[in-house]
Amino acid sequence: MDWKGTKLYSIIKFKCPYCHEGQFFLAHPYNLRRAGDLLDKCPVCHRRYTIEPGFYFGAMYVSYAMTVAVAVSIWVAIMVLAPDMALHWQAAIIIGVIVLGGPMFYAVSKIVWANMFFDYKGPVEEGSGTDGHEA
Ligand SMILES: [Zn+2]
Repeated sequence: MDWKGTKLYSIIKFKCPYCHEGQFFLAHPYNLRRAGDLLDKCPVCHRRYTIEPGFYFGAMYVSYAMTVAVAVSIWVAIMVLAPDMALHWQAAIIIGVIVLGGPMFYAVSKIVWANMFFDYKGPVEEGSGTDGHEA
């Protein structure tokens, strides 16, 4: 399947939203000292990841929506697979998944947010002189 060039590719592989080649994050999300820290710009195409100060605050909305979707999905799965489970176990499972998945949700929300604003442009052509400040 040729899915390079799709936003899903960038999100799942944690790649630059513009060229899908360079890394987006400084480290793996579960490297907790650097969880969610992203590079200033793509190491391959050199386009900037942060277009204005505070740009990634908006990723909170993505994170919130994702967390609620995961919590509801788990709850529905519990209702289908184990409808007699005690309420405190249901809560423990949902909270456990949210806490353990937190660093991953945080990272994914940032790259989803970036992909909402940045489109795939392919690799930078040699000599085009772009430094990430495109019209
Ligand atoms: Zn790039």
